[in-house]
Amino acid sequence: MKANSLKRILALILCVFSVLSSPLMIFATVSSQDQQKIDEYEKKQEELQEKIDAAQAEIDKLKENIQDKEKYASQLAGQIDNFQAQIDVLNTRIDDLEGQKSAIQEKIDALDIEIAGIEEDIQENEEQVEKTEGEISDVYHKLQDRIRENYVNGATSDLELLLDFDNDCDFSTYLIISEINQRRAKNDEELVTTLNEDIAKLEILNDEYELMIDTIEVKRDEHQVQVDELNLKENEIVVSRSKLEDSQDDLKTLQQEAYLYIKQLDAQSATYEKLVKSYEADIKAFDDKIDAIVNAASRGDGNVSSKPGGFIWPLQYSDVYISSSYGYRYDPISGVYKLHGGTDTCCWSGTMGKSVRASASGTVIISTWHNAYGYYVGIDHGNGIVTIYAHNSALNVSVGQKVSQGDIVAYAGSTGYSTGAHCHFEVRVNGTKVNPTGYASLPN
Ligand SMILES: [Zn+2]
Repeated sequence: MKANSLKRILALILCVFSVLSSPLMIFATVSSQDQQKIDEYEKKQEELQEKIDAAQAEIDKLKENIQDKEKYASQLAGQIDNFQAQIDVLNTRIDDLEGQKSAIQEKIDALDIEIAGIEEDIQENEEQVEKTEGEISDVYHKLQDRIRENYVNGATSDLELLLDFDNDCDFSTYLIISEINQRRAKNDEELVTTLNEDIAKLEILNDEYELMIDTIEVKRDEHQVQVDELNLKENEIVVSRSKLEDSQDDLKTLQQEAYLYIKQLDAQSATYEKLVKSYEADIKAFDDKIDAIVNAASRGDGNVSSKPGGFIWPLQYSDVYISSSYGYRYDPISGVYKLHGGTDTCCWSGTMGKSVRASASGTVIISTWHNAYGYYVGIDHGNGIVTIYAHNSALNVSVGQKVSQGDIVAYAGSTGYSTGAHCHFEVRVNGTKVNPTGYASLPN
């Protein structure tokens, strides 16, 4: 519903109310038949007024309710946007974490391969150590045998030294043996060389072993660090996902609520539109009723039997001028090309409040508010001739009142469909709007 039409309707309500509550409906000299008609008309107007008032109250209430709902719905929309943004942030965060997680997993996989490689190397090293130790043991036993042989030949000191050793000698033992071997170089050169080579090989294997053990420890530590990191990321993802679910639940709740409000709003708006339409129909019915009265009179139903004299212009001022002639024109309010059924006149010195006079003698048949004419007066001159004076600021006569030519019937204004103060003067002959300048002339 446009604010303009609401304003118009409100203004109309106020005007109708003031007309109905004014003493303009008091009739002085009317026949009982006319009185009955007037009473009926008044009653119908009152009924319409009540309907219009009730509709207006309902329209106001609905409008307020709709505004509240619109406000709340827009708040909900704001909240929905917030949750949507939160969800977007959380989804981005989860994607990021998943990315980090797979990078860590790759590192762990690479470390696993490295560790497995080193473990293989260690196993190989251990096998070589075992083999080398076996060789050393063989050579050692051969040397023992040789020493025993030497003992038979008289060399004893070395035998004593060697007898203390077991077959499973440790590294320092091999060093001692090496020294012995040096002394026996002459006789056992070949054996000693082999032994020395094996010992050197063992030494290298030992060093390699130490290094590999150190490396694998470092790699395993690194592996653990990455696994811990991975667990952290996984926990973070779990937390983010649970937040995401909460936000999505909240969002769903809000969306449902908003949907409900919009549905209610739509229903109320439809009711509102319907109400406004029936309200406007009531107003039109109101206008139609008064139009019917005017038309009935101008079709010769008027009860004035005397023939009217010459007609005078309702604005009796020397500075009066025509602001809009009778005839087809683009309507200044609606923009529609249609008949302008009267002549509009203004005064150069200002039109607002100027006296509007009866064009000829007759009976007032209408003196009320009209949606388009504003405050207007209709006079029945008999012989099917009715004059109308519209857009006034105030009325000066009542229905049923007899008026003489030149009597002040209203004061000029800009009520109804009007863009500025002027007097719309209309002449109807047997229901047809004719050019008023054919009946009356503007004063000189
Ligand atoms: Zn006009």
